[in-house]
Order: sequence, then C-alpha cells, then structure tokens
Amino acid sequence: MSDQHVPDQHTLHVDGEWRAAADGATREILDPVDATVLAVVAEGGAADTDAAIAAARAAFDHGPWPTTPVAERAALLRRVADLLQRDREELGLLESRDAGKTVEEGRVDVDCVSDAFRYFADLVAGESGGRVVDAGSPEVHSTVVHEPVGVCALITPWNYPLLQASWKVAPALAAGNTFVLKPSEITPLTTVALIRLLVEAGLPDGVANLVTGAGDPVGARMSEHPDVDLVSFTGGLVSGTKVMRAAADTVKKVALELGGKNPNVVFADACATEEGFDTAVDQALNAAFIHSGQVCSAGSRLIVEESVRERFVAELARRAERIRLGRGTADGVECGPLVSDRQLARTEEYVASALAEGAVLRAGGQRPDDLEPALKAGYFYRPTVLDGCHREMRVVREEVFGPVLTVETFRTEDEAVALANDTEYGLAGGVWTADPGRARRVAGRLRHGTVWINDFHPYLPQAEWGGFGKSGIGRELGPAGLAEYRETKHIYQNLAPRPVRWFKG
Ligand code: NAD
Repeated sequence: MSDQHVPDQHTLHVDGEWRAAADGATREILDPVDATVLAVVAEGGAADTDAAIAAARAAFDHGPWPTTPVAERAALLRRVADLLQRDREELGLLESRDAGKTVEEGRVDVDCVSDAFRYFADLVAGESGGRVVDAGSPEVHSTVVHEPVGVCALITPWNYPLLQASWKVAPALAAGNTFVLKPSEITPLTTVALIRLLVEAGLPDGVANLVTGAGDPVGARMSEHPDVDLVSFTGGLVSGTKVMRAAADTVKKVALELGGKNPNVVFADACATEEGFDTAVDQALNAAFIHSGQVCSAGSRLIVEESVRERFVAELARRAERIRLGRGTADGVECGPLVSDRQLARTEEYVASALAEGAVLRAGGQRPDDLEPALKAGYFYRPTVLDGCHREMRVVREEVFGPVLTVETFRTEDEAVALANDTEYGLAGGVWTADPGRARRVAGRLRHGTVWINDFHPYLPQAEWGGFGKSGIGRELGPAGLAEYRETKHIYQNLAPRPVRWFKG
C-alpha cells in the first residue's frame, strides 16, 4: 500500500485544505482481523464541523460549482471514475483492511463506485435542462427547472464506506451542490482517499469538505446546522431517527437509508431439480453471509416451504460450516471478521437470546477455533444458522448485522407473503420459484424497496435503491437518486404584461 492512500492525522478537508482537528484530537483506526492499529486520523469536533459547513456554504453561495455547465460537471465525475480505476488495487486493499472484507469484495466495491460516478455523469449530461409547461396562452412561457439544493450533509456507515459515500457524493456533485461528508468513525480511510481523488480531478476548493469524527458531535451538528439544506444519512434506525429529529427545527430535506430484516422466500418448486436446489442453497448462503452478514440488504430471514425445509437447511448448514474465515487478503478466504468488538458482542448476544428463546443451532454459533494465532484478537464469528425460528423472537425481528441466518417455514403462498412482510423494515427481499406467475404475484405483494426473483443482492445504478417502512425515506441511485439533490422551480414568464385591474382604484 503506498502512502498516498494511508492518511496521516490531517484527515479533515476544509475549503481545499487538509487539516488536523482544531483541538488536536485523534482516533486510532483498527484492523478488524487482529485489532492492530491501521491508521491514526483526526477526530473532528463541533468547531471543525462548523468550519466545514461554512466552507461549503461559501462555495455554494459564491463559488462556480452550482453554475458550472453540466457537461463540465459530468466530465469531472468521469475523471473521478477513471482515477478510481487507476487506484483500484490500492483502494480495494484499503477497503478490505479497514472494513474487514475480502480484497476481492473490496475491488468489486471500487468498480461499483466508478459505475455510480459514470451513471450520474451520463444522467445529467443527457438531460434537456427543464420542462416546458403549456400555460394555455401563447403570451406565457412556463418552464420547470431543477437547481441544486445547496449545502448537503452526507453521513455514511462502516459496512460499504466507499460505495455508500459514492451514492451520495456523485449525485450531489452532478446536481451542482456542495457538501460536508462524514464517514463512519470506524472506517474512514477510503473516504479520505475519495476526497483526494475529487481534488485531483479538479473540483474547486470548498465544494467537497470532509470531517472524520464521531456521530455525536459531528453528524449531530451537521443534522441540526442552519446552514445545511439537506441531510442524507445511511446507517442504523436509532441514529437515523436522531438525524430526522435534529433536522426538523430547520426543516431540512432529509433522506434516510436505514436497516433491513430482509426475507429470502424459497418455494419448493425452486428446488425440484438438483440444479435449482443447488442454486437456491448457494444463493441463500450468499444472501446471508457475504461480508459476514454486515449488509443492509442481507437475506437474514430464510422463509422456506415446509416440504423442502429439512433437506434445504441441512445442506445450507453443511456449506455454512465450510465457509473459510480469515484475513481478507489471504488466498482462499471467503469471509473476513466483523468490523468491531462491539459488532461481535452484539452478534453473540443475539445468538444467545435466540437459543434462550428456543431456536435450534444448525451451524456456527461461536467464534472460530481454527484461526492462525495472529488473528486471535480479530472480531471473527462463524456463519450461524438458527432453525425453528418464529416472529416473536428478537433475532427474527431486529437487525443483527452479523453472520446470523434464521429459518422460518410456510405451507401456502399467502403464508409466505405474510411472513415476508411481517417486519417493521422493508428494504429488500428475494423469492425463489420455478413458477413465473407466482414469482410476479409474490414480488407484487412484497412491501420492500427491492425484490429479487431467483437472485439475491444485485443492484443497478440505474434503478432506485431504498426502503419501505422503517428502512428509510427517499431513494438513492436511479433518476430519483439525483432528484433528492435538487430543488424544483417553476419559472412563469409573461411575454405580454398588462394590468389585471383586480383592484379598481
Ligand atoms: P450507525 O447508525 O451507527 O452510524 C452511521 C453513521 O451515522 C456513522 O457515520 C455515525 O457516526 C453516524 N451517527 C451516529 N450517531 C449519529 C447522530 N446522532 N447524528 C448524526 N450521525 C450519527 O450505523 P452503522 O453501524 O455505521 O451502519 C450499520 C447500519 O447501516 C445498519 O443498520 C445498516 O442496515 C445500515 N445501512 C443501510 C444501508 C441502506 O442502503 N439502506 C446501507 C448500508 C448500511
């Protein structure tokens, strides 16, 4: 890893300048595989946050970016995409080490980030620049135009640090906004690298500001600050509701991408052939355990038809036991650790509560005992399959955000749909069936923002991402993901003004 992407303690970026925290505070960033120190970054506080917001405000009110021609903005986003690809190996490795994912996942993340920048560049470049409205008179010219919202507060989580940042940064810039970005305090390293690439691509000073630091005070201050026009938050339900409350007094626009408790519904007909069975089991494993289940759309609830349950769960558990844990950079490793000791303790606590409530352990349920000695202090947990689960259990209702899969069963299609929708969240869900009619019927009835039929996890930058219910407000990606960062203005021009004489005097 070159020094270029390993930040020193000057990780605050304010008005084009890299700074340390005003009070000199720092934070150690730990490598989750062995709890050693990976980097030391600035721990920004309220004063740093205020400075970053002031810079973004000035750059929006006086700077060139909001009125820069769309073609130039799009060209800059494309340059960022190219730079990301230039640094793909380094960034993939850094994401792997910071977030504890395999390096292959880290590389895929970088590709998805480039795709997001290219998508929003193409989207704005292809627009016509407003909509003419027929006002019913040749003497009136009426148009609806879109303008940037202003100063955006962008707050991101630790599971996909670079990817989640790009889903906000790319549309915010494409639309002509300025921003303050706050990555998770646990995994800020690739976000620092992203800001460096924006600078290298030629973004004017003050447009992109970065404050590394804790949710409170940094994120909290961003959410309440009167000079911020919009807050876009991705993270957990508890923090999301705090952001929404903090934003209320200043009536900011609020976009929330929160958690999920995502069902993966498997009908027996999907398993009628050996190939179908193998695919459904393989994808159920992927749905639940990729990145150790620390995925907002993780298929953490397997809802399987009773008639195939025993065979399905037995094979799933057998394969789960064979998942190879270890250092994300090592050959053959399929899963890294959890991101922190807190996340590990949370997972252990959920599994204990599930077993106390009557769940049957079919795989995992413990920390691995076969790791090399150097990884003993890492936050590893075995992929865990809990059979015999039901909706009253906490582990079925609440987001674990760890490698824990619960199993519920159904007998009828109605029952399957009812179980899948029986969650306060509504982010994503999968349905496995060989019957195309049933597939469309069930997809239509699921109250989730994304439904996969005979697949799990893929997303497209062209298609909106977001949740029903407590999974959030608003959408990222797709045209709606750009619209979040815009105000809509109606311009009504009277081409032949004359008195209306409403008042006769
Ligand atoms: P988190 O809520 O703990 O933290 C998210 C971000 O919010 C961090 O940057 C944190 O510092 C900040 N924050 C914390 N308290 C805050 C406050 N009071 N005001 C403002 N900001 C505050 O979440 P996490 O543990 O980092 O991430 C995991 C969660 O994110 C899971 O619930 C997951 O489902 C969700 N997530 C959702 C999506 C999606 O697209 N819907 C994507 C990824 C992750």
